Amino acid sequence: MRKALMILAFCAVSMSAFAQTFVIRGTRHEKTEAMKPTMSEFYYPEIAKVTPGDMATNSAPSDAIILFDGKDLSKWQGARGGEAGWKINPDGSMTVNKDMRNGGGDIMTKESFGDFQLHIEWKVPENITGEGQARGNSGVYLQNKYEVQILDSYANETYVNGQAGSLYKQSAPLVNPCRKPGEWNEYDIIYTAPTFTADGRYRTYPIVTVIFNGVIVQNNTTLVGTTEYIGFPTTEPHGDGPILLQCHGDRSEPISFRNIWIRKL
Ligand code: MG
Repeated sequence: MRKALMILAFCAVSMSAFAQTFVIRGTRHEKTEAMKPTMSEFYYPEIAKVTPGDMATNSAPSDAIILFDGKDLSKWQGARGGEAGWKINPDGSMTVNKDMRNGGGDIMTKESFGDFQLHIEWKVPENITGEGQARGNSGVYLQNKYEVQILDSYANETYVNGQAGSLYKQSAPLVNPCRKPGEWNEYDIIYTAPTFTADGRYRTYPIVTVIFNGVIVQNNTTLVGTTEYIGFPTTEPHGDGPILLQCHGDRSEPISFRNIWIRKL
C-alpha cells in the first residue's frame, strides 16, 4: 500500500513537472509566468484567399492555371514539336490522336512545372476493345519523366504495377476505383519534384500522391527514378518539366480528356 502511494506521488510530481515544460526540437524549455498564449500565434505572412471550385462540376479553384477547358489546345504542343493535334469534341473534351502522320502522338504543356497539384479527367470509350496494356492505355507524365498510368482497369487484367493509378512499373495502386468504360474518371495528383546533388544523384526523390475518383491510390509514394518500359528506373537530373499526355501505340480506341488544371505549390 505504502509502495503504491509512493508511486502515485511520484507520478503526480512527474506530471506536474511535465506540465511546466515544453520541448522544441529536442530542447526542453521551462514555462514561466511571463509567457502568454499570443507568443505562439502568428498573423504574417497572410494566407492568400482562394475561391474553391464548384464541387458539382469539378471547376477549378481561382488560383489554378487552366490547361484545358474544352475550347482549345493553346496551352499544349506536340511532344515531338509542332502543334498539339488532338481532336476537340463538342462536349468540351479532347480525344487522343493516334494518327502519327496527321498531328498525332504525345502532347505536352508549353509551360514547365516544379511542385504542383494537378486535376485531370479521362474517359475510356464505351466501345473499347483490346486487353491488358492494349486497352485504353495512356498516361500522365509528371515533369515529362514519371508516368501515372491511365488504362481501362475496370475489368481488365494486367500486371498490378501497370494498371490505372499505378506509378508505372514502380508502385501499384492501393486499391482499384476505376469506373467502367464510358464513364469519366478523375485524377488529383500532388507532386513534389526531386532535387539533385552536384554529381547527379537524387538528393530528394520525387514524391507522388494520387487521388483516383476520390480514393487515395498513391499515398506520398517515393519514385526511385524515371519511368522505363524495359529495365529499371534511372536517375536523370532535371529541373522543372512539362506535363505530358501519352498517345499509346496500341490499337484500342482512343481515350478522351477534359477539365485539366494545375496549381503550382
Ligand atoms: Mg501508359
